Amino acid sequence: MGPIGEGAALMLRVNRNCPWNQCLFCSVYKQSRFSARSVEEIKGDIDTARRIGDLLEGKSREMGLNGWIQQEVIEKVIREQPEIFGDYPTRVTQEQRRALRCLSNVAGWYMYGARRVFLQDANALFLKAGDLVEVLRYLKGAFPTVDTVTCYARAKTCAQRTPEELKELHEAGLSWCLVGIESGCDRVLDSMKKGATKGDHISGGQKLMASGIKMAAFVMPGLAGGDREMSARHILDTLDVLNEIRPTEIRVRSLAVLESAPLRGKWEAGEFLPPSEEQMVDELKGLIEGVNFDCTFETLQMTNLFTFKGQLPARRNTFLDAISDYQALSPLERARYLLNRYIHGGYLDFVQSWDCPDPTLQKKIGEAEKSLEEESPEALGKVERVLWAVKSKGIP
Ligand code: SF4
Repeated sequence: MGPIGEGAALMLRVNRNCPWNQCLFCSVYKQSRFSARSVEEIKGDIDTARRIGDLLEGKSREMGLNGWIQQEVIEKVIREQPEIFGDYPTRVTQEQRRALRCLSNVAGWYMYGARRVFLQDANALFLKAGDLVEVLRYLKGAFPTVDTVTCYARAKTCAQRTPEELKELHEAGLSWCLVGIESGCDRVLDSMKKGATKGDHISGGQKLMASGIKMAAFVMPGLAGGDREMSARHILDTLDVLNEIRPTEIRVRSLAVLESAPLRGKWEAGEFLPPSEEQMVDELKGLIEGVNFDCTFETLQMTNLFTFKGQLPARRNTFLDAISDYQALSPLERARYLLNRYIHGGYLDFVQSWDCPDPTLQKKIGEAEKSLEEESPEALGKVERVLWAVKSKGIP
């Protein structure tokens, strides 16, 4: 799955899983081992996408649709090639199901103009720079329509690449790197096993920006835990890193501790104290106040209490006013706001669409709602506990 904003992109896997795979707050690849893909394998995938694209465009022309891919074109291609796609939808083998998925991905991509590509998985820059340049050139050769190529990259890997290598990658077509900074505080980075220091973040980020590749820096309110002093350090050091790098975008992803993340075990053992929602709001406010360069700032992921997207400093006061309005609410009003945001605002529906409803969670939600109805002084605490429980189920 690609990140927010990459819905129109073709997903091209240049390696499998995460070569680091140790961050305690992350569970994405914990059940999987990293493995590299060869340049030949990746080129093979590009060739397959090209073949499917040609097939669809050819059929479209045959149907008098001028090369435009529409649903009727896809259906005709499927119907006419039962040996590849099976007798859809009744008799389809595993292999044919894979072929159908491929066809549908490429068709969807063509419908968006075949412009964006996202290189998977966690750290595409881990590939040797020369190999990645070869892949990018091959991709551009096969699909001249491609104008934006994005990938995740670790700051440490960016720091290990030479300025010349990064520049060559940019010239070969790499447009954006999404880098998980999470924090600029060495104590937080170390305790979360991020495998990079504040210095690595700055060095990797500055090199990336100097090469012409745009950078989106992900930061994570809440990662320092519930200690107020550490929380302040976390934000100040994160601001240091951001203000040194001056990335194109800052993307906020507030902490959610998933049941499957190693941090969950630390929390249960009393070694990690989760932050309150109030503290995370203060951290977000500190970030917005402290950024001293022009950039896009967004909090689109649903783990965040507010949904902001806009330029800093132009939208700074608008974002801060929304936060101040929330902070001016009484504890009961805040509890209601939180419940609406996370329980009735779509988060719960998302996680329940992936899994069966959890009766214990439903019971906790019922208790929090009741305590809110009764205007109990415990309502805010109960709602916050429910939020962590909902967030532990998944990240939409
Ligand atoms: S580097 Fe990224 S994908 Fe890998 S473990 Fe850390 S957060 Fe997860």
